[in-house]
Amino acid sequence: MIIQFPRQSVSSQVRAMNAANDLTDFASSLPAVFPSGCHFIGNEPVRADATLAVLDPSTGEAFAELARGDVQHIDAAVAAARSAFEGAWGALAPMERGRLLHRLSEAILANQERLAQITARDGGKLLAQARADTIATARYFEFYAGACDKLHGELLPYRAGYIVMAERVPFGVTGHIVPWNYPTQIFARSVAASLAAGNACVVKPAEDASLAILEIAHLAIEAGFPRGAFNIVTGFGNEAGAALAAHPGIDHISFTGSPGTGSQVAQAAAGHHCPVTLELGGKSPQLVFADADLDAALPVLVSAIVQNAGQTCSAGSRVLIEQPAYREVMARLAKRFDALTVGSAFAQVDCGPLINAKQRDRVKGFLAQAAEDGIHVAAQGTLAADAPRGGFYQVPTLLGDVPADHAIAQEEVFGPVLVAMPFCDEAHAIELANGTDYGLVAGIWTKDGARQMRVARALRCGQVFVNDYGAGGGVELPFGGLKKSGYGREKGLAGLLSFTTLKTIAVKYE
Ligand code: ADP
Repeated sequence: MIIQFPRQSVSSQVRAMNAANDLTDFASSLPAVFPSGCHFIGNEPVRADATLAVLDPSTGEAFAELARGDVQHIDAAVAAARSAFEGAWGALAPMERGRLLHRLSEAILANQERLAQITARDGGKLLAQARADTIATARYFEFYAGACDKLHGELLPYRAGYIVMAERVPFGVTGHIVPWNYPTQIFARSVAASLAAGNACVVKPAEDASLAILEIAHLAIEAGFPRGAFNIVTGFGNEAGAALAAHPGIDHISFTGSPGTGSQVAQAAAGHHCPVTLELGGKSPQLVFADADLDAALPVLVSAIVQNAGQTCSAGSRVLIEQPAYREVMARLAKRFDALTVGSAFAQVDCGPLINAKQRDRVKGFLAQAAEDGIHVAAQGTLAADAPRGGFYQVPTLLGDVPADHAIAQEEVFGPVLVAMPFCDEAHAIELANGTDYGLVAGIWTKDGARQMRVARALRCGQVFVNDYGAGGGVELPFGGLKKSGYGREKGLAGLLSFTTLKTIAVKYE
């Protein structure tokens, strides 16, 4: 059963609009307030003629609907953002932008439980994870709120009689294409940074997880954001998403998703010379040396792949184990995997459903191919007896002695599947770790301090954790990849700078 969590306060403007337009909300099945089947453009719900159904991954049943965005909706959202950038939003002092971001952060925290319930229902995310996501979402707005008025430019030495400054300025209107796996966090990490830098935004959330983002946009009205500072157009990727990437009024695109779609977005953006940040996932290794503290490592190795049912760009999906410790680590991992349970996002289980039937079938396809190729299943979790029958479930699976060149050891599965393989020495560990097309995150488990730094420096990826694994964690820490994992950085102050460009002003004063 879903408990109703009343909103802290409801915008009278939208309440009146709902009544006038007879917009049905879905508060009967969800604690949501934003009207169903609408975009959020210029601080108003904008109804679309066409809609798409939203399925609950825990049950497979439709429970809400989204507006199906098209080129016209993207046009309207870009126009709203442009007029905000050139108008009330653009005119705000950085300190005032910071106050608004801070207020939104507080509104998210005040509505934390309601937003977590929506996120869990919409994306099949375990409620505990959805709560953690919501807190992290608020934290992005808080972090970037404090940075708005600390974006310094530089004074540059030049010829006599000149003063030259390089100012950090916003791009203008930024586009944000958001995936379904951590919808509110990934929305916040790029939108909060972009707003802090002074841009206005147009967001295209994923068709499988838009509802909580719409709710946050709605909270922004009460936080006092001027019209059009950020706008949300929902719908399919090849319709609304493609229209956003190709729109000539967009000055920067930030995309998180699959490598294939990332290439399409970058190509569409190149058509109008638009810079792009791409975060495209990974096949991140955890390197366990024989001297590692296994009591500390084991729970982290498991959670790094089971969290969010393995649907995490930075999931620790490969475990590389030094030969002398291989049998012991595998035995201890197997014991933990055997004990894992899978079920509804609202049940007391270790792992929720996958996002949709297509994703579940893709994961099952990888496992079927691995079985056909004789790869050994070392352990598997179990489906909870009360898991609803129509849900998109996959039990966590541990595969042992996986050949490094097999597809399941090379490609991003995006499910709760951990592949394990032994290594014989440090050089072999580094070769295996770097031996995929991806380079996002890595974990190193060893007590040897010199080795920690040697290996960390040798790994080709964007983030390395030593004796821990953050799965991309840390609002303060720059995050992004190399190779097929993408380019550009989000999070931290690096993320803020990536939403600015430099303008050099040279003044000849004598
Ligand atoms: P998945 O296939 O797992 O949904 P995608 O990378 O395709 O992963 O999706 C990530 C985001 O990109 C989603 O918001 C999706 O709607 C959007 N998207 C999908 N295809 C396109 C496209 N051709 N152009 C722009 N955005 C797209």
